[in-house]
Amino acid sequence: MGKDLENFKQRLSLLDYLQQQNWVARPAGHGHEFVGLCPLHQEIRPSFYVNARKNLFYCHGCGQGGDLLRFVQLSRHLSFRQSLAYLEQQSAPPTDPADVLEQVATFYQQQLDRYPEALCYLKQRGLHDPALIRELRIGYAPGGSLRRHLTAQGYSFDLLQRLGLLNSKGHDAFYQRVVFPCCRGGRIVNLYGRSIGVAFAHRFLPGSKGGLYTWEQVQYCPEVILVEGLFDYAVLWQAGFRHVTCSLGTHLNACQFQQLCDRPRTIYLTFDVDANGSGQQASQQLAHRLQAQGIATRHVLLPDGQDPNSFFVQGGDAQQFRSLLEAAQP
Ligand SMILES: [Zn+2]
Repeated sequence: MGKDLENFKQRLSLLDYLQQQNWVARPAGHGHEFVGLCPLHQEIRPSFYVNARKNLFYCHGCGQGGDLLRFVQLSRHLSFRQSLAYLEQQSAPPTDPADVLEQVATFYQQQLDRYPEALCYLKQRGLHDPALIRELRIGYAPGGSLRRHLTAQGYSFDLLQRLGLLNSKGHDAFYQRVVFPCCRGGRIVNLYGRSIGVAFAHRFLPGSKGGLYTWEQVQYCPEVILVEGLFDYAVLWQAGFRHVTCSLGTHLNACQFQQLCDRPRTIYLTFDVDANGSGQQASQQLAHRLQAQGIATRHVLLPDGQDPNSFFVQGGDAQQFRSLLEAAQP
């Protein structure tokens, strides 16, 4: 809290605050000092000084002095805690969730290069192209640092908890996870975090996962490859397949289904070929629903036990994958 508080106080200008409260001042001597009538006591001759560089005030009339927090306590007759809450509210940045998630995604992106274990994980999953990593804005959540970063920017603890970025204990929700931003209409609506350890592989923030991944880039393509995971998407992108999108799971939400149906096209369903058959079962069901809407479908059959990611990681190449696309049956 001590460091948060210092950051918070440094971020808020006492002079700006006073001027917002219609305090009239003139420069006094050196460049950083201003003087005006004291807002804390009645006076005719100005004796209230503000040092803008130090962010402190002192009144030679009533003897009061201190920082902005102290000024709010005295002028509004509030306790220390109440003053803090008041200032937090006054200075809170706009709280559009997309803006917050934008900050979060940028922060995680900046972390990625600092954690060799994260880059190592990406390599293991076949992702090595820096252009891809930048383009998809892939980041890393080390855990334990997001809260400090965002509260220093003025976002309230409550808001961060409401968005699911902090858990009920106030800890970062994403811990040791590779993070992909999920967008809708160019705005980030959710984050997908893939654990680089063993626990709880997949995690989203609460709320909608948005539409199909990077749909804006493929929506006019006559043929679209649909995969279920972001690592599947990423290796295909890297192998040169750009008419690919991802449903972030085998169950499509209404928005995603609508997107696939909004014009005539052929969908290449490329779900996992897992041992229990759940990927292929989901693929069949989706094909029926799409066909009922007049959308052509093809089933891309990967070798047993594989998904597009493992196909490429285990040495498959673009030419071999193209052959699978050509062999795909309705
Ligand atoms: Zn005074």
